[in-house]
Amino acid sequence: MNIFVVNAGSSSFKYQLINMDTHKVLASGLVERIGEELGTIVHKTSPNSSKEQKYTSERAVKTHTEGMMFIIEQLIDPQIGVLSSIKEIQAIGHRVVMGGEQIKQAVLINKDIKQIIKDLSIFSPLHNPANLAGIEVAEKLFPEAPNVAVFDTEFHQTLPDIAYLYPLPYEIYQKHKIRRYGFHGTSHEYVTNKAAEFLTKEATDINLITCHLGNGCSMAAIQKGKSIDTTMGTTPLDGLMMGTRCGSIDPSIVPFLIEKVGLSTKEVDQLLNKQSGLKGICSLNDMRDIHEASQKGNKQAELALNMFAYRIKKQIGAYYAILPHLDALVFTAGIGENDPISREIVCSNLEHFGFKLDKSLNKKTESIERYISAKDSKLPILVIPTNEELEIAKKTFAIVKNI
Ligand code: ADP
Repeated sequence: MNIFVVNAGSSSFKYQLINMDTHKVLASGLVERIGEELGTIVHKTSPNSSKEQKYTSERAVKTHTEGMMFIIEQLIDPQIGVLSSIKEIQAIGHRVVMGGEQIKQAVLINKDIKQIIKDLSIFSPLHNPANLAGIEVAEKLFPEAPNVAVFDTEFHQTLPDIAYLYPLPYEIYQKHKIRRYGFHGTSHEYVTNKAAEFLTKEATDINLITCHLGNGCSMAAIQKGKSIDTTMGTTPLDGLMMGTRCGSIDPSIVPFLIEKVGLSTKEVDQLLNKQSGLKGICSLNDMRDIHEASQKGNKQAELALNMFAYRIKKQIGAYYAILPHLDALVFTAGIGENDPISREIVCSNLEHFGFKLDKSLNKKTESIERYISAKDSKLPILVIPTNEELEIAKKTFAIVKNI
């Protein structure tokens, strides 16, 4: 069975076509700047293999539908295609960011599910409407294939009330469902299972601290394979310092910015989501640029990096305290997988917790599951490359295989 995985954003979408017998990615790509004068399309066949072919094009892509139609043409093209007909795509798996309290696991999409996704846009105004648009395009272009929604919030449904409730008047939770939901769940779940496999432990018996560090960053405390706490909250703005998002700050700053600085609520939202985090401190949000600037003596870049790592380290302490014991500390996503400098700062002086980094293993750049802890480290420190698309495809397969 071939499953097409779609991750739709407001002006872009990513996709992967995965064969479920082999777990091989037949094609993948990214369509960006939809609706702008010039869009960009990157389409790869057999990505990350010796047979990889990359096709890039710049052209106006007016709508998501137009972008998706173009990709379908590439998939079935007689020369570069990987399928002979669109019918060889048996199901579509969609990443949906917010499932709220209503949707506890991946589901087959129908009218009611679409309405719930729409209603939850109030918590996820940037993502849920875009995810829904992706679903509607797929329904139109793949009329015979079932669509499944896989939610970022699913893996964190196991948080206990002491972790998911905010100390606000309880009616705010009861009436408005303001609580911690957590995001990046598909990634935390994938790396939890992979770490268990790597350490030859049962996934239902593993305790971890998982650090998903990309443009968006979150951590999770995993007990017996289940998420018991996580850093993102009602929205993906909470928790760690991120590329452009502030993470946890004193909530009184918000009325201060409105009343004393004179910003509108929209401007505050923009400031906290798009102009803060690493970018807010040093004007740069890509970690590679931050290292380059820092090495050239840019003090703000150095400060941003140290603040970023400090907040992760502090959270490791918090999760260390709530877990009865620990099997490993796991790093994943763009920075977690590829940035030895951030990992080294985070793991420095953690030997009293049992974590001792091996600096030369840490510097290796292989994209596979691996130890980066020293032989005499009491606890393993691991790099586990995430694969959210494969996890979405697996969940989609589990739902559609019996249809
Ligand atoms: P997203 O949250 O958009 O999926 P990614 O997981 O791709 O983001 O992570 C993007 C981040 O990873 C960027 O800050 C980027 O600089 C960082 N990154 C990627 N490769 C490296 C590298 N080799 N060294 C340092 N940082 C890296």
